[in-house]
Amino acid sequence: MNRDSSRLILKQGREVPIERRHPWIFSGAVAKISGNPKSGETVQVFSDTGDALGSACFSPSSKIRARMWSWDPQEEIDKDFFEAKLRIAINTRKILLNFSNASTNAYRLIYAESDFLPGLIVDIYANFLVVQYLSTGAEYWRGEIADVLEKITGIKNIYERSDVEARRLEGLTQNKGVIKGEQPPVHIEINENGLRFLVDISHGQKTGFYIDQRVNRKKILNYTKGKNILDCFCYTGAFTVYAIQGKAKHITSIDSSSEVLALAIENCSLNYPNYCDLDWIKGNVFQELRKFRDSNTKFDLIVLDPPKFAPTARQAQRGARGYKDINLLAFKLLNPSGILFTFSCSGGVSSELFQKIVAGAALDAGVKVQILEKLHQSPDHPVGLHFPEGEYLKGLICRII
Ligand code: SAH
Repeated sequence: MNRDSSRLILKQGREVPIERRHPWIFSGAVAKISGNPKSGETVQVFSDTGDALGSACFSPSSKIRARMWSWDPQEEIDKDFFEAKLRIAINTRKILLNFSNASTNAYRLIYAESDFLPGLIVDIYANFLVVQYLSTGAEYWRGEIADVLEKITGIKNIYERSDVEARRLEGLTQNKGVIKGEQPPVHIEINENGLRFLVDISHGQKTGFYIDQRVNRKKILNYTKGKNILDCFCYTGAFTVYAIQGKAKHITSIDSSSEVLALAIENCSLNYPNYCDLDWIKGNVFQELRKFRDSNTKFDLIVLDPPKFAPTARQAQRGARGYKDINLLAFKLLNPSGILFTFSCSGGVSSELFQKIVAGAALDAGVKVQILEKLHQSPDHPVGLHFPEGEYLKGLICRII
């Protein structure tokens, strides 16, 4: 421990979550800060009785006033610290991707708090790394982190996508652009389970592609042969391309953005230039599902993969209404024995609540439904056992009886 470093002293009893390895120190838990630390600097954390608990990065304007870097008070936070953590995360990915039988050159290398690097996201897309610095601590060490990433991955192109709302809460501005290496091409081609996808890392949603759905996309292959599919919120067509691979009879795909639909069409023809049983709809899923209901159009399998309706628990009620609405309509559009792949990526909606919402939707739609499988984010997005907030994607494969 550096004797000159700033100190953060907790109020009585507020050391308990930290001792249980939760990494966040909320402003209300802080009794005193000494040493005048600047945004992102490392502070030593103490209980009110003077026990050294470890070190954290300081965030003066966020409600999360500090995030733990280390629970070892002796551990220095420096370039070597990041190198050691990044090496562990990279080795873990090799194992995780092997276990999930995934062959891919696009995956999450660092998943922030769940990889013990609060606020740092790093995704690999072929020969590009895409980085998001989402906390003051990650921002403070941005140069060192980029150097170490290049050193241990051997990837020379590092692109930043810190153009996200979460930065505002940390008092940081939005940032985007080349950190190292070349300007990315308009599209980077990646390969996921033998399928090719074009990814726009500079303008695409998240860091360009929904790599978190990889394991779930593969599951759809079991249900698509000869079926009539509806892919709602299709983005750049990933579920659609898998459905073609799974020999679907016909696929209808909906998204509200014409840019992503254009890329979805390209992705389909890149893999299956001769498949033409496709309908693309640029529209609002809430309205399009109602049109199908009114025209009595039916499907054998529906995918519902909407954007976050409830990013935080406070928005859960409003989010729940959105999920109920689309799930109810989807159940009504399914043929007997029809299959629904339904997802929520809202941090504010737990998997228990999501299951309740879907159950309510089935009840109101007047259908009897079984859960065939519960789905999660792909294993390159692991959840820290002491950080349940890291679990955000939940899904159900439902079957109408
Ligand atoms: N299933 C996709 C990811 C979906 S992301 C994949 O595996 O790649 C959510 C998508 O929903 C985005 O492409 C966004 O443009 C679209 N979207 C958001 N609101 C919508 C709405 N009301 N109607 C249709 N599409 C919408």
